[in-house]
Amino acid sequence: KKPPLRKGSMADVPANLLEQIHGLETIFAVNGDKLKAITNHFIGELDKGLSKKGGNIPMIPGWVMTYPTGKETGDYLAIDLGGTNLRVVAVKLGGNRDFDTTQSKYKLPDHIRTSSSEELWSFIADCLKTFVDEEFPNGVKGKLPLGFTFSYPCSQDKINEGYLQRWTKGFDIDGVEGKNVVPMLQEQLAKRQIPIEVVALINDTVGTLVASLYTDSETKMGCIFGTGVNGAYYDVVSGVEKLEGRLPSDITSDLPMAINCEYGSFDNEHMVLPRTKYDLLVDEQSPRPGQQSFEKMTSGYYLGELLRLVLLDLHSQGFIFQGQDLTKFQKPYVMDTAYPAKIEEDPFENLEDTYDLFKGLGVETTSPERKLIRRLAELIGIRASRLSVCGIAAVCKKRGYETGHIAADGSVYNRYPGFKERAAEGLRDIFDWESKPKPEDYPIHIVPAEDGSGAGAAIIAALTEKRLANGLS
Ligand code: BGC
Ligand code: MG
Repeated sequence: KKPPLRKGSMADVPANLLEQIHGLETIFAVNGDKLKAITNHFIGELDKGLSKKGGNIPMIPGWVMTYPTGKETGDYLAIDLGGTNLRVVAVKLGGNRDFDTTQSKYKLPDHIRTSSSEELWSFIADCLKTFVDEEFPNGVKGKLPLGFTFSYPCSQDKINEGYLQRWTKGFDIDGVEGKNVVPMLQEQLAKRQIPIEVVALINDTVGTLVASLYTDSETKMGCIFGTGVNGAYYDVVSGVEKLEGRLPSDITSDLPMAINCEYGSFDNEHMVLPRTKYDLLVDEQSPRPGQQSFEKMTSGYYLGELLRLVLLDLHSQGFIFQGQDLTKFQKPYVMDTAYPAKIEEDPFENLEDTYDLFKGLGVETTSPERKLIRRLAELIGIRASRLSVCGIAAVCKKRGYETGHIAADGSVYNRYPGFKERAAEGLRDIFDWESKPKPEDYPIHIVPAEDGSGAGAAIIAALTEKRLANGLS
């Protein structure tokens, strides 16, 4: 595959469009000083989240109070309810920093994001039944322990519960917020007589952290750059002020405690992030306005939508797509992240793929329009990657980490062109490192994570069972 041509001739772009492009370059740019200011504010917000009073960032204790040793063994089930799929995984932990997995993916029905609670849990239970029937044709002895990766902010006072604080990433299912999701799933499992017990409810970032630490002892954080954005790290119980007075006596202040930051909600009070009018629009038109401010500028769920809103605005001012019927293009979220990703991969000179993508949405584009679209996709992609590392920098500075690996997963990290390089440049700008040729040359760098919601969930289930077997809470 040829590398994309990042720059090309703008000679055919008329002055009025060039002026628009320059305007967009100005509003979407985030320089190093701004990144530093955001990171500094971020550190304060992480601390507030750990305090008794609390703050914008939930900083949820994940009740994983040991580091994996790599010696954990056993058979576990894991499920991951993500934005697009339900993944079911059978995990065999090998005990030598190794594991084997067998998995199936079930596509979430399109309407499920806004369906009912009953429908959601029934769907998951049905998928689990299909999986167990296939993988264990001779039946199951006792109950299969399951680690449930549920990638939404959940309050937990222990590991096998999770009260959904609020939906994110466009989910909007009634009757789940404020409730403990574990019994809801368990009830549907019981109805179908499926021999499974949910032993741990896990955020995807915590799973990523633990799975990666199982194989790589340099791991400092588990991060997701995908449909949503978030990170997890290990703090110490004594560093989590809000746990004071809430702990059983066997959980001593020197134990580690995995923290699911939920930093997608960073800057909900609008203090530092450089919001454009398009960011305000995305927020206003979302099912949960005012929430997930950081996520709405950085995660895959919103990148295509931002692109679309800017283009619609330029159209309404008469700059592009003149005289066209944009009915199809006016549909919110009609461009998912694959759109900006493909546009950025498209060789600059002809932008044929971009032509086809827009044609598919009923829009006829000219060459200068496509160059504007391409530049805009870059601006949105660059801004997202630079902003999204502020969470990493804040956690590392807070914990005093000067070296180490940040284990990352998610569609944006894995598939968005240029994300890795741009993220590394963002970190370099924040830490004032000298420039290096490759992202992995920097003292703190992002590495591909191990399978957090499969292996990670299984390892956490194993760690939990071990604590319980030892009479610990
Ligand atoms: C959720 C987090 C999750 C992240 C990545 C966010 O929208 O609130 O719980 O970790 O997405 O999946
Ligand atoms: Mg996921």
